[in-house]
Amino acid sequence: SSQRKIGDDVSPNELSPGILDLQSFDTELLLDMPATGFYDGAVPYGHSRRQSFDILDPNFPSGKQIGKAPAVPENKSFALEKEKPGSVAKIKVVVRKRPLNKKEVAKKEEDIITIEQHTNSLTVHETKLKVDLTEYVEKHEFVFDAVLDEDVSNDEVYRETVEPVVASIFHRTKATCFAYGQTGSGKTYTMQPLPLRASQDILRLMNHTYRTQRLQLFFSFFEIYGGKLFDLLNDRRKLCMREDGKQQVCIVGLQEYRVSNVETIRELIEKGNATRSTGTTGANEESSRSHAILQLAIKKPADGNDPKHLRRAADGSESKSAKVVGKISFIDLAGSERGADTTDNDKQTRIEGAEINKSLLALKECIRALDNDQVHIPFRGSKLTEVLRDSFIGDSRTVMISCISPSSGSCEHTLNTLRYADRVKSLTKSNNPKK
Ligand code: ADP
Ligand code: MG
Repeated sequence: SSQRKIGDDVSPNELSPGILDLQSFDTELLLDMPATGFYDGAVPYGHSRRQSFDILDPNFPSGKQIGKAPAVPENKSFALEKEKPGSVAKIKVVVRKRPLNKKEVAKKEEDIITIEQHTNSLTVHETKLKVDLTEYVEKHEFVFDAVLDEDVSNDEVYRETVEPVVASIFHRTKATCFAYGQTGSGKTYTMQPLPLRASQDILRLMNHTYRTQRLQLFFSFFEIYGGKLFDLLNDRRKLCMREDGKQQVCIVGLQEYRVSNVETIRELIEKGNATRSTGTTGANEESSRSHAILQLAIKKPADGNDPKHLRRAADGSESKSAKVVGKISFIDLAGSERGADTTDNDKQTRIEGAEINKSLLALKECIRALDNDQVHIPFRGSKLTEVLRDSFIGDSRTVMISCISPSSGSCEHTLNTLRYADRVKSLTKSNNPKK
């Protein structure tokens, strides 16, 4: 079969059942017919035009074969659908409940969260006291894009949250996944396996569907602590941020590692996490006051045929001429309760608390602005949102995973977390894939 160029029409009688061979070009696609769809929702025939959309590689674990190309009315060409409506929402808010831990069980704390997985709803049973000191239970019900119960594995979390956006980063999309919640609610537990699983899928796509593009994957890991940036892969070296005038965020001195296998990525994640929790005194205490940001960027060398460039790339250093095709960021946010440290006796703690409070508020406002298709995104509100600026501009996907503890003792924090999550998604149009 011949290769099609952008703008070519594809007539229905050129179609015959077979395997769709997607040829990618730049970050857009050219369809090589005949075809049967492997890609989710897009109609595998029609008008080959400049458009990017998500595809699922045949080698991709959850790649669903849509089936044979449906019958096409004669003399009619179809535009490629960008996405199956609602298949990949721009903003997705997911709540994950962890099990009661031993300490909570020992303290006889109760599980006050009930989850209805099929309706994506969750109820908090809050025990309150009347004036005469008799107890009563107030119920608070919330509905999200997905609610994950305590028995849901990290693998299922991946499939529900990150997997649906992974393919999109090959098409200029910036995807961002946040873990929000109070300290001890399971943010790090939830977040840690995600970049590794994502990089497995990214590398698979790079080596199959996109192999002709000679794409490269880059890894970086840093944290924001008290409004300052520190490289987690370079002994917490202090970094500063600069804008390059093209709305690109540049973190000066940040180590970016070119990665081509999952083992290296695993090692880098472990190294960064170790640096995060031991970099300061009182390990857990301190890491709950920082936002950890892990980024996987797909880059394409400006001239992939330049042997000089290939040599440079082979020794692991980043090429200046490489351009970012897309990226995915994983953000393990500071403990949400830390934002309330603003009345603490210790001045440093107060300053940090104020910064965390500011960044979590700014984050919420940015996500809401994105969802609202607002032209003005208030990313200047905090260091966190400034750093993520390029993820808020252009085609973006945001996944917010709100982590909650089930225990009665955490009721107030849990309600705060759920209200925050609710605010983030309150503007979301009817793009709930489950509906
Ligand atoms: P955070 O990062 O929000 O402070 P962690 O991820 O460190 O919280 O989780 C606190 C503790 O609870 C850890 O010991 C972790 O292993 C455990 N934990 C968290 N979520 C789960 C879960 N879904 N299933 C089992 N254990 C969990
Ligand atoms: Mg943590």
